[in-house]
Amino acid sequence: MITIRQLHKSYHTEALPLHVLKGIDLQIDKGEYVSITGASGSGKSTLLNIIGILDTYDSGDYYLNGSLIKGLSETEAAHYRNEMIGFVFQSFNLINFKNALENVALPLYYKKVSRKKRNIIAMEHLDKMGLKDWAHHLPNEMSGGQKQRVAIARAMISNPKIILADEPTGALDSTTTKEVMEVLTNLNKEGITTIIVTHEKSVSEATNRIIHLKDGMIEYETRKDNGIHVTTQNLNYQSL
Ligand code: ADP
Ligand code: MG
Repeated sequence: MITIRQLHKSYHTEALPLHVLKGIDLQIDKGEYVSITGASGSGKSTLLNIIGILDTYDSGDYYLNGSLIKGLSETEAAHYRNEMIGFVFQSFNLINFKNALENVALPLYYKKVSRKKRNIIAMEHLDKMGLKDWAHHLPNEMSGGQKQRVAIARAMISNPKIILADEPTGALDSTTTKEVMEVLTNLNKEGITTIIVTHEKSVSEATNRIIHLKDGMIEYETRKDNGIHVTTQNLNYQSL
Protein backbone atom coordinates (compact mmCIF):
# COMPACT_ATOMS: atom_id res chain seq x y z
CA MET A 1 0.00 0.00 0.00
CA ILE A 2 2.79 2.40 1.00
CA THR A 3 6.41 2.15 -0.10
CA ILE A 4 8.87 4.85 0.93
CA ARG A 5 12.53 4.77 -0.08
CA GLN A 6 15.29 7.05 1.14
CA LEU A 7 12.89 9.90 1.73
CA HIS A 8 14.35 13.26 2.74
CA LYS A 9 12.56 16.46 3.66
CA SER A 10 13.84 19.85 4.76
CA TYR A 11 11.92 22.96 5.72
CA HIS A 12 13.35 26.18 4.40
CA THR A 13 12.78 29.02 6.81
CA GLU A 14 14.57 32.38 7.10
CA ALA A 15 17.07 30.62 9.34
CA LEU A 16 19.10 27.62 8.19
CA PRO A 17 17.24 24.88 6.33
CA LEU A 18 15.91 22.34 8.79
CA HIS A 19 16.58 18.72 7.73
CA VAL A 20 13.52 17.01 9.24
CA LEU A 21 13.38 13.56 7.56
CA LYS A 22 16.78 12.01 6.89
CA GLY A 23 16.38 8.91 4.76
CA ILE A 24 13.17 7.10 5.71
CA ASP A 25 12.71 3.57 4.34
CA LEU A 26 9.29 2.14 5.11
CA GLN A 27 6.81 -0.31 3.72
CA ILE A 28 3.27 -0.59 5.02
CA ASP A 29 1.03 -3.29 3.60
CA LYS A 30 -2.70 -3.14 3.02
CA GLY A 31 -4.65 -3.60 6.24
CA GLU A 32 -1.76 -2.95 8.61
CA TYR A 33 -2.32 -1.25 11.97
CA VAL A 34 0.66 1.01 12.57
CA SER A 35 1.66 3.74 14.99
CA ILE A 36 4.45 6.28 14.58
CA THR A 37 6.08 7.33 17.85
CA GLY A 38 8.99 9.55 18.84
CA ALA A 39 9.78 12.72 20.74
CA SER A 40 8.23 16.04 19.84
CA GLY A 41 9.99 17.43 16.76
CA SER A 42 11.25 14.02 15.56
CA GLY A 43 9.32 14.36 12.28
CA LYS A 44 6.19 12.27 12.93
CA SER A 45 3.64 14.77 11.60
CA THR A 46 5.86 15.63 8.64
CA LEU A 47 6.04 11.95 7.67
CA LEU A 48 2.27 11.50 8.11
CA ASN A 49 1.55 14.63 6.05
CA ILE A 50 3.78 13.36 3.24
CA ILE A 51 2.01 9.98 3.33
CA GLY A 52 -1.31 11.87 3.16
CA ILE A 53 -0.04 14.05 0.26
CA LEU A 54 -0.64 17.17 2.33
CA ASP A 55 3.07 17.95 2.06
CA THR A 56 5.83 17.28 -0.47
CA TYR A 57 9.32 15.79 -0.03
CA ASP A 58 12.71 16.70 -1.47
CA SER A 59 14.25 13.39 -2.53
CA GLY A 60 13.61 9.66 -2.44
CA ASP A 61 10.44 7.91 -3.62
CA TYR A 62 6.96 7.48 -2.27
CA TYR A 63 4.61 4.98 -3.89
CA LEU A 64 0.97 4.89 -2.82
CA ASN A 65 -0.92 1.84 -4.04
CA GLY A 66 1.63 1.47 -6.86
CA SER A 67 1.56 5.12 -8.01
CA LEU A 68 4.64 7.30 -7.62
CA ILE A 69 3.62 10.34 -5.57
CA LYS A 70 6.05 12.92 -6.81
CA GLY A 71 5.69 16.30 -8.51
CA LEU A 72 1.90 16.07 -8.54
CA SER A 73 -0.30 19.06 -9.35
CA GLU A 74 -2.71 20.11 -6.59
CA THR A 75 -5.56 18.56 -8.61
CA GLU A 76 -3.77 15.21 -8.88
CA ALA A 77 -2.87 15.29 -5.19
CA ALA A 78 -6.48 16.04 -4.25
CA HIS A 79 -7.62 13.17 -6.45
CA TYR A 80 -5.42 10.62 -4.60
CA ARG A 81 -6.44 12.07 -1.23
CA ASN A 82 -10.15 11.89 -2.03
CA GLU A 83 -9.87 8.35 -3.38
CA MET A 84 -7.59 6.88 -0.76
CA ILE A 85 -7.21 8.78 2.47
CA GLY A 86 -9.19 9.85 5.51
CA PHE A 87 -7.62 12.24 8.02
CA VAL A 88 -8.19 12.55 11.75
CA PHE A 89 -6.55 15.32 13.78
CA GLN A 90 -5.95 16.01 17.47
CA SER A 91 -8.11 19.15 17.35
CA PHE A 92 -11.00 17.35 15.56
CA ASN A 93 -11.21 20.16 12.93
CA LEU A 94 -15.01 20.21 13.05
CA ILE A 95 -16.95 23.25 11.90
CA ASN A 96 -18.44 24.74 15.04
CA PHE A 97 -21.57 26.26 13.50
CA LYS A 98 -22.54 23.04 11.72
CA ASN A 99 -24.16 20.11 13.50
CA ALA A 100 -22.66 16.61 13.64
CA LEU A 101 -24.63 15.41 10.60
CA GLU A 102 -23.58 18.40 8.47
CA ASN A 103 -19.95 17.99 9.52
CA VAL A 104 -19.93 14.33 8.53
CA ALA A 105 -21.71 15.07 5.23
CA LEU A 106 -19.31 17.87 4.25
CA PRO A 107 -16.98 15.79 2.00
CA LEU A 108 -20.05 14.70 0.00
CA TYR A 109 -21.15 18.33 -0.33
CA TYR A 110 -17.83 19.04 -2.06
CA LYS A 111 -18.45 16.01 -4.28
CA LYS A 112 -21.81 17.60 -5.22
CA VAL A 113 -23.91 14.77 -3.79
CA SER A 114 -27.52 15.93 -3.24
CA ARG A 115 -28.43 17.07 0.29
CA LYS A 116 -30.94 14.25 0.77
CA LYS A 117 -28.50 11.55 -0.29
CA ARG A 118 -25.55 12.90 1.68
CA ASN A 119 -27.65 13.20 4.84
CA ILE A 120 -28.74 9.57 4.54
CA ILE A 121 -25.13 8.39 4.10
CA ALA A 122 -23.85 10.68 6.86
CA MET A 123 -26.49 9.34 9.24
CA GLU A 124 -25.35 5.76 8.54
CA HIS A 125 -21.78 6.71 9.43
CA LEU A 126 -22.86 8.53 12.60
CA ASP A 127 -24.97 5.53 13.57
CA LYS A 128 -21.93 3.29 13.16
CA MET A 129 -20.08 5.54 15.60
CA GLY A 130 -22.98 5.26 18.08
CA LEU A 131 -23.91 8.91 17.55
CA LYS A 132 -27.26 8.76 15.77
CA ASP A 133 -28.97 10.62 18.61
CA TRP A 134 -26.36 13.37 18.40
CA ALA A 135 -26.81 14.12 14.70
CA HIS A 136 -28.41 17.52 15.26
CA HIS A 137 -26.10 18.69 18.02
CA LEU A 138 -23.33 21.21 17.52
CA PRO A 139 -19.73 20.21 18.31
CA ASN A 140 -19.62 22.38 21.45
CA GLU A 141 -22.52 20.37 22.88
CA MET A 142 -20.51 17.15 22.63
CA SER A 143 -17.68 15.57 24.64
CA GLY A 144 -14.16 15.29 23.23
CA GLY A 145 -14.63 11.58 22.54
CA GLN A 146 -17.90 12.25 20.72
CA LYS A 147 -16.33 15.02 18.66
CA GLN A 148 -13.49 12.73 17.62
CA ARG A 149 -15.99 10.05 16.63
CA VAL A 150 -17.81 12.63 14.48
CA ALA A 151 -14.44 13.46 12.88
CA ILE A 152 -13.78 9.76 12.24
CA ALA A 153 -17.26 9.37 10.69
CA ARG A 154 -16.43 12.34 8.42
CA ALA A 155 -13.09 10.75 7.48
CA MET A 156 -14.85 7.47 6.62
CA ILE A 157 -17.64 8.91 4.48
CA SER A 158 -15.53 8.82 1.29
CA ASN A 159 -14.68 5.13 1.86
CA PRO A 160 -10.93 5.69 2.21
CA LYS A 161 -8.47 2.80 2.05
CA ILE A 162 -6.19 4.45 4.61
CA ILE A 163 -6.88 6.37 7.82
CA LEU A 164 -4.15 8.76 8.94
CA ALA A 165 -4.59 10.05 12.48
CA ASP A 166 -2.25 12.64 14.00
CA GLU A 167 -2.42 12.47 17.81
CA PRO A 168 -6.14 11.54 17.64
CA THR A 169 -6.31 11.13 21.41
CA GLY A 170 -4.01 14.03 22.29
CA ALA A 171 -6.89 16.14 23.62
CA LEU A 172 -8.74 13.31 25.37
CA ASP A 173 -8.71 11.79 28.85
CA SER A 174 -7.91 8.11 29.32
CA THR A 175 -11.54 6.92 29.20
CA THR A 176 -12.33 8.70 25.94
CA THR A 177 -8.92 7.69 24.57
CA LYS A 178 -9.98 4.07 25.00
CA GLU A 179 -13.31 4.78 23.33
CA VAL A 180 -11.64 6.39 20.28
CA MET A 181 -9.01 3.64 20.05
CA GLU A 182 -11.78 1.02 20.02
CA VAL A 183 -13.31 2.79 17.04
CA LEU A 184 -9.98 2.95 15.17
CA THR A 185 -9.20 -0.68 16.01
CA ASN A 186 -12.58 -1.77 14.66
CA LEU A 187 -12.06 0.17 11.43
CA ASN A 188 -8.69 -1.53 11.03
CA LYS A 189 -10.35 -4.92 11.57
CA GLU A 190 -12.64 -4.06 8.66
CA GLY A 191 -9.52 -3.83 6.50
CA ILE A 192 -8.69 -0.11 6.57
CA THR A 193 -4.92 0.48 6.68
CA THR A 194 -4.56 2.58 9.83
CA ILE A 195 -1.61 4.80 10.76
CA ILE A 196 -1.63 6.71 14.03
CA VAL A 197 0.93 9.28 15.21
CA THR A 198 1.04 9.27 18.98
CA HIS A 199 3.27 9.72 21.99
CA GLU A 200 0.92 7.78 24.25
CA LYS A 201 1.99 4.27 25.10
CA SER A 202 -1.58 3.03 25.54
CA VAL A 203 -2.28 4.10 21.95
CA SER A 204 0.84 2.72 20.27
CA GLU A 205 0.47 -0.57 22.13
CA ALA A 206 -3.01 -1.01 20.71
CA THR A 207 -1.48 -1.17 17.20
CA ASN A 208 0.40 -4.13 15.71
CA ARG A 209 3.49 -2.25 14.60
CA ILE A 210 5.30 0.72 16.14
CA ILE A 211 7.65 2.80 13.99
CA HIS A 212 9.87 4.85 16.28
CA LEU A 213 11.43 8.03 14.90
CA LYS A 214 14.41 9.83 16.35
CA ASP A 215 15.79 13.02 14.81
CA GLY A 216 14.13 12.30 11.46
CA MET A 217 15.25 8.68 11.18
CA ILE A 218 13.63 5.37 12.05
CA GLU A 219 15.51 4.27 15.16
CA TYR A 220 13.68 0.97 15.65
CA GLU A 221 10.38 -0.72 15.03
CA THR A 222 8.35 -3.07 17.17
CA ARG A 223 5.96 -5.69 15.83
CA LYS A 224 3.33 -7.49 17.83
CA ASP A 225 3.13 -11.15 16.92
CA ASN A 226 0.58 -13.24 18.82
CA GLY A 227 0.74 -10.69 21.62
CA ILE A 228 4.56 -10.81 21.79
CA HIS A 229 6.48 -7.62 20.96
CA VAL A 230 9.57 -8.04 18.80
CA THR A 231 11.79 -4.98 18.38
CA THR A 232 14.16 -4.57 15.45
CA GLN A 233 16.79 -1.84 15.51
CA ASN A 234 17.32 0.00 12.24
CA LEU A 235 20.91 -0.97 11.44
CA ASN A 236 21.31 2.08 9.22
CA TYR A 237 20.38 4.35 12.10
CA GLN A 238 23.62 4.11 14.09
CA SER A 239 25.90 4.56 11.11
CA LEU A 240 24.31 7.92 10.23
P1 ADP B 1 6.55 15.90 15.40
O1 ADP B 1 5.21 15.70 14.79
O2 ADP B 1 7.31 14.63 15.59
O3 ADP B 1 6.48 16.67 16.69
P2 ADP B 1 7.04 17.61 13.12
O4 ADP B 1 7.07 16.71 11.94
O5 ADP B 1 5.80 18.40 13.34
O6 ADP B 1 7.44 16.76 14.43
O7 ADP B 1 8.25 18.65 13.03
C1 ADP B 1 9.59 18.27 12.86
C2 ADP B 1 10.44 19.52 12.84
O8 ADP B 1 10.11 20.32 11.71
C3 ADP B 1 10.24 20.42 14.05
O9 ADP B 1 11.49 20.95 14.41
C4 ADP B 1 9.30 21.47 13.55
O10 ADP B 1 9.49 22.68 14.24
C5 ADP B 1 9.69 21.61 12.09
N1 ADP B 1 8.57 21.99 11.23
C6 ADP B 1 7.41 21.33 11.09
N2 ADP B 1 6.61 21.91 10.18
C7 ADP B 1 7.30 22.99 9.72
C8 ADP B 1 7.02 24.01 8.74
N3 ADP B 1 5.87 24.02 8.07
N4 ADP B 1 7.97 24.96 8.53
C9 ADP B 1 9.14 24.94 9.20
N5 ADP B 1 9.46 24.01 10.12
C10 ADP B 1 8.56 23.04 10.38
MG1 MG C 1 3.31 16.26 15.41
